[in-house]
Amino acid sequence: MKKLSIIVSCYNEEKALPLFYAKMERVRQQDFADIDIEFEYLFINDGSKDKTLDIIKRLSNENSKVKYISFSRNFGKEAAMLAGLDAATGDYIAIMDADLQDPPALLRQMYDEITQNHYDRVGTRRVSRKGEPPIRSFCARVFYKLINGISNVEMVDGARDYWFMTSQVADSIKSMREYNRYSKGLNSFVGYNTKWLEYENVERVAGETKWSFWKLFKYALDGITAFSTMPLIISSIVGILFCLVAFIAIIFIIVRTLAFGDPTSGWPSLVCIIVFVSGVQLFSIGVIGQYLAKTYLEVKKRPIYIIKEQNIESQSNDHSKS
Ligand code: UDP
Ligand code: MG
Repeated sequence: MKKLSIIVSCYNEEKALPLFYAKMERVRQQDFADIDIEFEYLFINDGSKDKTLDIIKRLSNENSKVKYISFSRNFGKEAAMLAGLDAATGDYIAIMDADLQDPPALLRQMYDEITQNHYDRVGTRRVSRKGEPPIRSFCARVFYKLINGISNVEMVDGARDYWFMTSQVADSIKSMREYNRYSKGLNSFVGYNTKWLEYENVERVAGETKWSFWKLFKYALDGITAFSTMPLIISSIVGILFCLVAFIAIIFIIVRTLAFGDPTSGWPSLVCIIVFVSGVQLFSIGVIGQYLAKTYLEVKKRPIYIIKEQNIESQSNDHSKS
């Protein structure tokens, strides 16, 4: 019998979780009724401050197919998804959010695409951003234009972290042990035949989003530094251009002084130039600093997540390896 592992990262999802589980069980009993397949749930409690863990434990008492991993603190969704992949034992693996924004009704179609149409994985993208503040949608669009222009791997606008994949794809993704995880990039990096399903945005059933604008902004910067070195190239080019301009200006000034003497004037323009060039320098140092900071975090080889408790017998002790 084939097994499907469903990875669900949960951070303060006490309201949404019971609804999610009920809906999933219904999908299992109805949509998958004609297939001999076992569902294994892997709930990753990402340091929730509410009753999420209690709810997961209750579910695991009711159903032995419910497994959980609980982190020692909040490590972020990327770390939670990795922990899920590390622990998943299924032939197929699905990654979903707990808030039902990833419609479970699509699971059967995803399964069919892989088993019948021989795709390696199925991704999902929402074609509308209904229910989202317009300014956020606008920034997202600008970001995808930008990152696709400067990065070699393609980031799909509107792609969600709702995936259905074979265990082979999962193995490839979890083989990348980097600390700064930007899953859209990692997913695109591994390749494989991907089928994209599209759907209208669904609003979360309960609870609220964990992504503030500032968090999203920092995540966008992570994405850029993790998958493009273009900012470094741009600052080098700007540096070279400024050197050229300065060189030409020096020759111009020397010639002018020799020809016409040196009338002492023009300090306002000088100040403007100094301020502008200092700005460019500081910006470039900042760009380099971003990359250096990421390198610093990578070389420390800290664990990506730390497990406090779980009901999975660890096959090896490498669950919290870096
Ligand atoms: N999540 C998580 N750790 C975090 C933040 C979020 O595991 O630090 C989970 C959250 O419980 C949910 C999923 O990631 O299952 C997506 O979060 P959310 O719905 O807040 O994001 P949005 O859908 O608004 O982008
Ligand atoms: Mg959500």
